[in-house]
Amino acid sequence: MLAASASKFTVKPWTKLHRLAFSSTAASKADFTHVVRLIPHPPPSTRVSPLTATSQVIGGGVIGLAVARQLARRDTSTLLVERHAAVGTETSSRNSEVIHAGIYYGAGSLKTRLCVRGKHLLYGLCERRGVGHARTGKWIVAQNDAQRDALERIHAFCRDEVGVPTRWVGAREVEERGEGVRAAKGALESPTTGIVDSHGLMVCLQGLFEDAGGVVALNSPVTAIAPVAGSGAPGSHGWEITVRDAHTGSPSTITASSMVNAAGLGAVAVHNMVVPPAQHKRLYYAKGNYFSYSSSWPSVSRLIYPAPEPGAGGLGTHLTLDLGGRMRFGPDVDWVESPDDLAVTATRQQQAVAEIKKYLPGIDETALEPDYAGIRPKLAAAGAVATGKGFQDFVIRKEDGYDGWVNLLGIESPGLTSSLAIGEMVEELLYGAATAP
Ligand SMILES: Cc1cc2nc3c(=O)[nH]c(=O)nc-3n(C[C@H](O)[C@H](O)[C@H](O)COP(=O)(O)OP(=O)(O)OC[C@H]3O[C@@H](n4cnc5c(N)ncnc54)[C@H](O)[C@@H]3O)c2cc1C
Repeated sequence: MLAASASKFTVKPWTKLHRLAFSSTAASKADFTHVVRLIPHPPPSTRVSPLTATSQVIGGGVIGLAVARQLARRDTSTLLVERHAAVGTETSSRNSEVIHAGIYYGAGSLKTRLCVRGKHLLYGLCERRGVGHARTGKWIVAQNDAQRDALERIHAFCRDEVGVPTRWVGAREVEERGEGVRAAKGALESPTTGIVDSHGLMVCLQGLFEDAGGVVALNSPVTAIAPVAGSGAPGSHGWEITVRDAHTGSPSTITASSMVNAAGLGAVAVHNMVVPPAQHKRLYYAKGNYFSYSSSWPSVSRLIYPAPEPGAGGLGTHLTLDLGGRMRFGPDVDWVESPDDLAVTATRQQQAVAEIKKYLPGIDETALEPDYAGIRPKLAAAGAVATGKGFQDFVIRKEDGYDGWVNLLGIESPGLTSSLAIGEMVEELLYGAATAP
């Protein structure tokens, strides 16, 4: 254990982070000073730079876990720091748990590329590792001609540009197979859409990461970041990352050759720790409220989405299912001032009922209850999730003018679906190629 006062923790090239026998995820005393020790290793002859063996990932949501697991497979010594007492307690456990097909985000976007690749990788991982998931399929429903036209365009885009399977469902088939769903002008079916147990996925990723020698440091909020002094671009000699122990308040410093900012709702604050004030960014928060449904009727066995509204911050209040087949509805778009504003806005329920009744008129509104809410990290004041006006893509890049820093900002939906592909992309940015799945 390091001294309680500020301590310096430099990972040398020939050292390997090694996990102690107790779980690094124990909620009680899991700050990184307790969970990491250094075991000297001779430097492999292939290592060219003194610090290339070490990565630090900031943020223990599904993105940080996927990135850390990917980097640990390279046999680097990888440390993941998380401010809370457990991984996955923020946005990654407050979403629809939908494995998206990749049909909304337009040609050439990172969202499309990473969602399509991520979906493929995610189904594969879930099947190999027994993570709960289901290929439910989904219908996106059209109630008028304008919506039908919009869905026809998505259908053509999927067929001609991204090769994502979709099928047109006519009004008669909706009547026959729709389980009470209304789609006056038909529906677009996406057979590759599904659902995943997001908690199970994160437990799996954490296990794979730790099995590969990675270390998770909990209760470790990052409070400051500075490039190690030296000639060349900032970061070319590594990064000093200061972490405050959440229990004692005492700071510690870790030095790593590369630094990945996967801090979700905290990622802009992390970004602002590095860049000069003129380059500071601001984050906007679009809460999504969910409502549970306790009645067993109507019972729908696939996901139902409204046609996307151009410029909207979300995909519309949809019907989604958990792995037990229970229906829930949400999320709406509720712009809020704080990332901590996570209570469901109960006054939104009437609006949700009106939206749901457009496609499920038989809903028993007395069986709806406020459930939970999640917050989308938006890089623009009215940032749209899907292609069209105000579209905001993921930002995933090596920052210009710096070495060894990959920054991930605005990782809203479809981040869960894209997580494994984002892991690959970060590895490519840092090392030029990704390890095979
Ligand atoms: C309402 C809603 C519905 C969604 N539905 C879907 C969906 O159905 N399908 C889909 O694919 N995607 C969906 N998403 C998107 C998906 O949930 C996110 O893209 C994904 O969870 C983001 O993961 P993350 O790891 O970036 O963020 P997070 O899960 O928020 O993790 C970031 C972590 O960083 C930590 N952190 C922050 N600052 C610091 C710091 N200074 N020091 C240390 N740690 C720090 C936090 O504590 C947190 O644990 C939805 C999102 C929302 C909000």
